[in-house]
Amino acid sequence: MARVLVGVKRVVDYAVKIRVKPDKTGVVTDGVKHSMNPFDEIAVEEAVRMKEKKLAEEVIAVTCGPAQAQETLRTALAMGVDRGIHVEVSGPEYDTLQPIHVSKILAKLAKDEKVDMIIVGKQAIDDDSNQTAQMTAAFLDWSQATFASKIEKTDGKLTVTREIDGGLETIEVKLPTVISADLRLNQPRYATLPNIMKAKKKPIKKVTPADLGVDTTPRIQVVSLEDPPTRQAGAILEDVDQLVVKLKEGGHI
Ligand code: AMP
Repeated sequence: MARVLVGVKRVVDYAVKIRVKPDKTGVVTDGVKHSMNPFDEIAVEEAVRMKEKKLAEEVIAVTCGPAQAQETLRTALAMGVDRGIHVEVSGPEYDTLQPIHVSKILAKLAKDEKVDMIIVGKQAIDDDSNQTAQMTAAFLDWSQATFASKIEKTDGKLTVTREIDGGLETIEVKLPTVISADLRLNQPRYATLPNIMKAKKKPIKKVTPADLGVDTTPRIQVVSLEDPPTRQAGAILEDVDQLVVKLKEGGHI
């Protein structure tokens, strides 16, 4: 049976209207609602289903982030994860934490915890990097199955359907492997109140990147962040003749 590590990131809630900081170095996060990255809910759901089907013996969730990231871990525990690891990173160190760092952390924990499967979301909706699964697999020299929309487990192997441009690809990967969850993989469950209460008793281990021997010096510097251009106002035209005139003028309609 497999041991599974799941990456869960605390991000600005998908429904929040994002505001860029006046100095263009990032987005406003203070006082803004945060939630588990939606693709990570799907990753957790898949791991918990594996446990329920007795295909996995233990599911461990890991988050890298400030103290508040513990809430994200608790949500994962309430969804059925067995235990959590909080890799504490906060302040300026967290502002510049990049997928390469998270990948090194996941790779180290995968070895320490002797897991044979890592499931992460296909991308974090805050930085849209879509790099962590790929880099983690590279650091570990494991197989990878990204953008998974269906996973079937047979002895020592997984058959994974991948969402690719304009179609689906089915591949077979050997364990140990890294998977990234796409939108159609499953419908994640809600954490029920009794399970939220039970989750409070589940263990969370705290470590730092330094404990894991991971250097978090930034590799990338964000030079500038811009809001998308605001759309120009449209105009209502009376009839087709007016439209033809406008089109000939080549102006905006
Ligand atoms: P990214 O490569 O940043 O788009 O993130 C892809 C996936 O990696 C996310 O959906 C998470 O599962 C995982 N991940 C990224 N950042 C973190 C983090 N700070 N803590 C835990 N998992 C993370």
